[in-house]
Amino acid sequence: CGIVGYIGKSQAAPILIDGLSKLEYRGYDSAGVCIYNNALNLIKSKGRLKILEEKVNESTINGCIGIGHTRWATHGAPSDENAHPHYNEDETISLVHNGIIENYLRLKERLEGEGYTFKSETDTEVAVQLIDFYYKKCNNLLDAVISAIDEIEGSYAFAILAVNEPDKVIAVRKDSPLIIGLGNEENYIASDIPAILKYTRDIYLLEDKEIAIVTEDAVTILNIDKEPLERDIYHVDWDI
Ligand code: GLU
Repeated sequence: CGIVGYIGKSQAAPILIDGLSKLEYRGYDSAGVCIYNNALNLIKSKGRLKILEEKVNESTINGCIGIGHTRWATHGAPSDENAHPHYNEDETISLVHNGIIENYLRLKERLEGEGYTFKSETDTEVAVQLIDFYYKKCNNLLDAVISAIDEIEGSYAFAILAVNEPDKVIAVRKDSPLIIGLGNEENYIASDIPAILKYTRDIYLLEDKEIAIVTEDAVTILNIDKEPLERDIYHVDWDI
């Protein structure tokens, strides 16, 4: 339902939680963050953002790269396990998702045939496992994401982290909104403008099937054939 991502020099968790709080009006049943700090550290919980915030504050996790999510369950009941972000099995890739993967059952059966096991009942976990499947073949997050979305039917906005490529967050969308916020040596990802308006007013609007590679000091937008796309900066001149 709500997505926020951050990469820069500040602590990610407070920015993610603040951003998610600006998307609360959309409704949600659970929330979570994944913070990179040598490993992908996941904290997630059913219920209010306040519960997540308390869990984050009790933890010692810090890090300047992260993704966060507020979930409005479509597949799998609201629960800690079904909350996003989701991991692959060895916890080297993490992903948040807005939308619905229509063909998730078919993909899940195929992955189970390949030996994958699933921890949640969500359609979303299939996406991170499918990316893992391709990552193990090509060892490149961008290529793995492109291969995966080629097979995913339905609507999605994804923000994705990989422990072996810790300098970037990859974002991609289809039929579910996603924007990139441009900062000074820091960049943002969000499913809607209010989440990041406090930090930047300069944004890129991602179109369907466009992929953004977001690093601390650059944002590259590619089409599905990995061709770079020119994009005008959209300046937000309204207040919330
Ligand atoms: N379909 C996903 C789920 O049920 C994402 C729902 C959402 O957009 O929050 O977990």
